[in-house]
Order: sequence, then structure tokens, then C-alpha cells
Amino acid sequence: KLHNQIQEAKGKIRVFCRCRPLSDDEASAGHTTIVDFSAAKDGDIGILTGSSMKKIFKFDRVYTPKDDQDASPVVTSVLDGYNVCIFAYGQTGTGKTFTMEGTGQNRGVNYRTLEQLFKLIEERKEISTFSISVSVLEVYNEQIRDLLATEPASKRLGIRQASEGFHHVPGIVEAKVENIKEVWNVLQAGNNARAIGSNNVNEHSSRSHCMLCILVKAKNLITGECTKSKLWLVDLAGSERLAKTEVQGDRLKEAQNINRSLSALGDVISALANKSSHIPYRNSKLTHLLQDSLGGDSKTLMFVQISPSEQDLGETLSSLNFASRVR
Ligand code: ADP
Ligand code: MG
Repeated sequence: KLHNQIQEAKGKIRVFCRCRPLSDDEASAGHTTIVDFSAAKDGDIGILTGSSMKKIFKFDRVYTPKDDQDASPVVTSVLDGYNVCIFAYGQTGTGKTFTMEGTGQNRGVNYRTLEQLFKLIEERKEISTFSISVSVLEVYNEQIRDLLATEPASKRLGIRQASEGFHHVPGIVEAKVENIKEVWNVLQAGNNARAIGSNNVNEHSSRSHCMLCILVKAKNLITGECTKSKLWLVDLAGSERLAKTEVQGDRLKEAQNINRSLSALGDVISALANKSSHIPYRNSKLTHLLQDSLGGDSKTLMFVQISPSEQDLGETLSSLNFASRVR
């Protein structure tokens, strides 16, 4: 069923809402849950905004805290030559990394998607040959950093538009991979590089966009036709607004850059949804990088992540409003 939904999704944006469980700390502090999943099967999620007030948001799918993520059906599209973009949006601590990276016991979207990719390649080997490469990058303060480069900080990276509207980052490492184990090693290397030069990895990762780009080159053995497509897997920076008192100096600049890129993303997606004639891709590095993978024939899937706690009501409403706007 999900597969059909995504097949129909060409050019459209699918939005999945995922709520994490109440943490032990929240539970022991007596926080209550403000999320109503009674109509989750229909894609509705209810937020209790007051003692007897409930606001309903509609999505393509709602994941309750018990549900497993499964985003692999889009993989077929990538092998068929379409660009695909999957990203996780939300406040820090709502499960973006949990959804994308997952854990040892519970693999995330990144791993599942790539595993599926190699499975399909194997199934199609009589018909096509494929070559797969992976880039891992981070966008922090409107600067692109190549996490697979031997000296990540030394290069200034830009974005170029090649023929057929294909965008690329000249000089970025594209690591060739032939199986899921090799991918795993590349992702680990990327994660390790991310930690270098930041004294608090978690904090740093909540303020930067972490982006995997899977480049798929295919050659049809029967027709000889070659295609090139991309799969982006993006763990966005935290969408939370900072307390005014907290915002000074470097933190102010970071916060402004995050706001700028996340609102640029919202603007691009809603311009696409409204079939606007001008799509403002160039307003941030994030949207510029994703230009050939948002809109047109490409498929976009967004996880909007939320917290169940009453303490996070404001941020939850703001994330759900953002996600409703792009749908
Ligand atoms: P973010 O990347 O948005 O800052 P994390 O992915 O780090 O958030 O998640 C915050 C915490 O919540 C982590 O301890 C994570 O394991 C837990 N968590 C998030 N989503 C789920 C889920 N669906 N089920 C169980 N635990 C989750
Ligand atoms: Mg995270």
C-alpha cells in the first residue's frame, strides 16, 4: 500500500509524521502526552492545545511511537532514473537521527534504503548494470563540508550546474560502493569526521544539516540507455527557536543560518506545491544543493518529527504547521 502511495507521488511531496515516545525523564517528571493517535490510521494526528481543545493535522502517514519506519519503496524510483529526496525535519530531540540513522537493533531509513537498493540491483542484474557512489556532507553556517575528504576543513566547496540540469559539488569525494557493508564503512567514516573539531558532537549535529548523496549510474544492457539519478538522505538541523537570552555571538549566527535554510526549504516546497513559476532554490546552500532533487520528476518524502510532551507544545505546533504548509 505504501509502495502504491509513493508510486503515485511523482512530483508531489509526501509528508510522514512521526512521534517519539515520552522519555523516562519526562515520564518521571510527570509530563503528560498531548498527542492523540486515535485516527492515526487515516493519517490524522491530534494535538491537545488546551484542556478541551484539539487541533487535527493531516498527513500521508502517521507513525505512532511503536511503529517502525519503512521508507524503502522510493528506491525503485531511484533505479528507474528519478531523483529522490528523503529528509527529517523537527525540533532537536524528536528522533530525526533515530529515523534516518537508527540504532544497532533498529536500522534507520538510510540503511534500509541502501539495503533495498542493493537487493534491487541484484534482481535487475540481467537487465542493467549499476554503479553506486556515496558522498557525505554537512552544511554548517551556509558552508559545505565534505565529510569524506582527507582534510575536510581545508576545501571551500561550491555548487555547479552541469548539463541536463544536474547539480554537483566539484571536488567532493564520491566513494564507490558495491555492497551494504562498504556503505556502512563510508557512513561510519563520515560520522567520525563530523566529530572532529567540535567539542560537543550532539550539539554540533543539531545545528548542521547532515546530507548523504547516493549517486546511481545505470546502463540498460538491452537498449544501451544510460541514466543518472540521485538519492538524498538528509538529517536537518533542529528547527527550534532559541530563547532570546541565549542568542548572542556565534550562536546568533548559527541560529540565523539555520532559520534561513529551513525557511528557504519551506519556501521552495510550498512554491512547488503551489506550482509557482519561480522556485527560490538559490536562497540557501541546502535548497541549492537539492535543486535537481526537489520538484520536477523527483520524489520527496519528509518525516516531520515531534515530541509527545506538553512541554514541547509550541515547537510541536510550529513543526506541524511547517509540514502542513509543504503538503
Ligand atoms: P534528533 O536527532 O531529532 O535530535 P534523536 O534521534 O537524537 O533526536 O532522538 C532523541 C532521543 O529519542 C534518542 O534517545 C532516541 O533514541 C529517542 N527516540 C527517538 N525516536 C524514537 C522512537 N521512535 N522510539 C524510541 N526512541 C526514540
Ligand atoms: Mg540528531
